[in-house]
Amino acid sequence: MVRWRGRESSQNVEDRRAASGGGRSLPMLLLRLVFTRFGIVGVAALAGGYFALQAVGIDPMLLLAPQSEQQQRPQSSASNEQFAFASIILAETETVWEALFAASGGRYPPPTLVVFSGQVHSDCGAASSASGPFYCPADQKIYLDTTFFGELAQRFRAPGDFAAAYVIAHEVGHHVQDLVGTLSDVHQRQAGLGPAAINALQVQVELQADCYAGLWAHHAERTAGLLEEGDIAEGMAAAAAIGDDRLQRNSGRRVDPESFTHGTSQQRQRWFLRGYRSGETGACDTFAGPL
Ligand SMILES: [Zn+2]
Repeated sequence: MVRWRGRESSQNVEDRRAASGGGRSLPMLLLRLVFTRFGIVGVAALAGGYFALQAVGIDPMLLLAPQSEQQQRPQSSASNEQFAFASIILAETETVWEALFAASGGRYPPPTLVVFSGQVHSDCGAASSASGPFYCPADQKIYLDTTFFGELAQRFRAPGDFAAAYVIAHEVGHHVQDLVGTLSDVHQRQAGLGPAAINALQVQVELQADCYAGLWAHHAERTAGLLEEGDIAEGMAAAAAIGDDRLQRNSGRRVDPESFTHGTSQQRQRWFLRGYRSGETGACDTFAGPL
């Protein structure tokens, strides 16, 4: 078990769980409230105000919309627990990466974590829970649907809170790659290449993010005492569960290395461990040699 309770949460979290799920809108709630308090006359007055606003070019719905989405649907306690967990893990990644960047004279602007449910819009396009957690370099945000944690436990059989922490740390790894220019570099190199070569570069990007997740675990364990026995084993199980070869085999497809984008189970474990054992970014150069 990760010793996360009672720790400080990150301030860089956007809660979009209610916004993405639909449910009752504030305008409808307001209408009902006015009707029960003031009857049809109240509703008529409200409608008058509505059209008056519209007449001067203001969309009255826009006045109501932004806050409405935050408050409508109460979240389940499981969802709130995962939200709190993700916020705290993000804060722990900030502590570690701030120190690592500072040690080399740099500054670490942290990413924002967007927690959503169902569907979400990012500067990289729209996404749904089905696409899994991802990092968008265009807005420097990590998008996470908390139901993914349940999926990790059930569908991928990689339970445990450290498995979830590893996923967050992996996405933070992509943010680090963005900050140091790796992502744009690879993007440029991918232009004009064939699918197999594009995928091979992508595997190097992903394994480096795994290595950075391990590197984070190394420091979080030593400086913050965040980990307990068994946590690294959970991380290793998660790394194996989401290896391309295992995913393809489990879905009944032929294992096709040319289509890999994240690396095999063994590679993902190897690079996570490399980061974890060394604690140094230099150990995570997946572009230097054999994987
Ligand atoms: Zn990734």
